[in-house]
Amino acid sequence: MKNLNRLIMAGTLAALVGLAPAKAAETYDIVISGGRVVDPETGLDGVRNVGIKGDRIAAVSEKALKGTRTIDAKGRVVSPGFIDMHAHGQSILAGRVQALDGVTTALELEAGMLPVGDYYKRLAAEGRPINYGASVNWANARIATFANLEPKDDLAWFEEAFARPDWQQEVATPEQLEKITAMVKEGLDEGGLGVGILIGYAPGTGHKEFFAINKLAAERGMPTFTHARYLSMLEPKSSFEGMQEIVAAAAGTGAHTHIVHMNSISLRDTDIIADLISNAQKQGLKVTTEAYPYGAGATGIGAAMFREDRWRERLGGVDASNFDVNGKRLTEEEFARLQAEAPATGTVIHFIELSDPKDMAILSKSVLFPGGVIASDGGDWLVDGKPIPQETWPLPENAWSHPRSAGTYARFLRMYLREQKAVSLIEAIRRVSYGPAHILEDAVPQMKLKGRIQKGADADIVIFDPETVGEQSDFDHPGRTSTGFSHVIVNGTLLVNDGELDTSVLPGKPVRNAVKAK
Ligand SMILES: [Zn+2]
Repeated sequence: MKNLNRLIMAGTLAALVGLAPAKAAETYDIVISGGRVVDPETGLDGVRNVGIKGDRIAAVSEKALKGTRTIDAKGRVVSPGFIDMHAHGQSILAGRVQALDGVTTALELEAGMLPVGDYYKRLAAEGRPINYGASVNWANARIATFANLEPKDDLAWFEEAFARPDWQQEVATPEQLEKITAMVKEGLDEGGLGVGILIGYAPGTGHKEFFAINKLAAERGMPTFTHARYLSMLEPKSSFEGMQEIVAAAAGTGAHTHIVHMNSISLRDTDIIADLISNAQKQGLKVTTEAYPYGAGATGIGAAMFREDRWRERLGGVDASNFDVNGKRLTEEEFARLQAEAPATGTVIHFIELSDPKDMAILSKSVLFPGGVIASDGGDWLVDGKPIPQETWPLPENAWSHPRSAGTYARFLRMYLREQKAVSLIEAIRRVSYGPAHILEDAVPQMKLKGRIQKGADADIVIFDPETVGEQSDFDHPGRTSTGFSHVIVNGTLLVNDGELDTSVLPGKPVRNAVKAK
């Protein structure tokens, strides 16, 4: 039944874009020949030739195809380009690094942008190597309302707002809620891909406000993407409670709620949180989730979560040795000194320790959650705490970010496909490509043409060697780009050719909601 549906859907796709059947004599712009073509929607996993015309896939065939340009993909996997639903690095530089990790579409859905129109205008004017898009940034609407400021689609504007406790800690008045809601509506009118709700950064927000924002999204047929309230294994105010709130919003409003980075919020409570989410799904609620394959997050050492009462216990029993600054684990003395004297110091916090098999199993539970997808939560690149100009290439040796910004997808394929053999190839590709497209496609029709190697689909394609694909980035060398991806094609344009990034092309296009998509 499932396969039949898939075939019907695949047929619909070709009909939808009105393509005539391929003629034998046709010449394609690019032909990818003899690769192992994987298409999770139709279940295809076999050797095929793929013909590209313009920005679309025009043929997927067992017969030889003639191309102006031919890429020999023998022995390699031909996959739909990877779709990252959680990409904070929206710069040209971040996009190029992600392209070398197989990503052809990078969406900022967790935080989002506001004003949404300004974001799309700016990125279209500058150009992007890979496809881009953003949800509406609810937190920015809240900051703008509490501070009486015009919102800016700028991360620095958001970070500066951390000096103001009101928007983080206070319940909005009815007048304030009206203003916040109006701004969110405007963002949806400007093409936002749903609403990004960083409620974990504003834990004092009223439950009624969270409900109201989800209700608004439901009325517009758009999803919400929530960084859950709280980060704790202790009750009250536990991660579990935050997750329950998201499930309750789906039940009480009918919204499609997407839980971001299930792995990091869950700490070591993954079993009970996985139980909550999967049972909600069994009741028919539209709750989806994602994870990244790392046991560590990154933030400032002075953050409130490392200062509040019983914080070590709340985070599941951490101590100074779980903190890493410039690739070195800290002693209690160093930790205390940095917190007192340099609270802005960037630190990597290992919430779980992957050298411990028990913690590794906890991570795998999130990464392999049934129906879940991989999303990076990657960010932009810094040197000495300052953003690197986005035209810079290659990435400087001392560039800093969390290694997930460069290696999430190669790492997932290396660990879970090749080494652990925990997923089949087709399931791995579902988690990185078709899965995210499928999560978004009801609300964002453009996504129906992504995450697929089918006639009529967007020509966003990645070719990789499953025997060598792997991340090179780690906590000491976060800027090392992934290996194993020989070709990355974005909208029919070769962005990576024989492993080399072409800096002369910027083929990325915007992804917007149905209001703004043509
Ligand atoms: Zn987050």
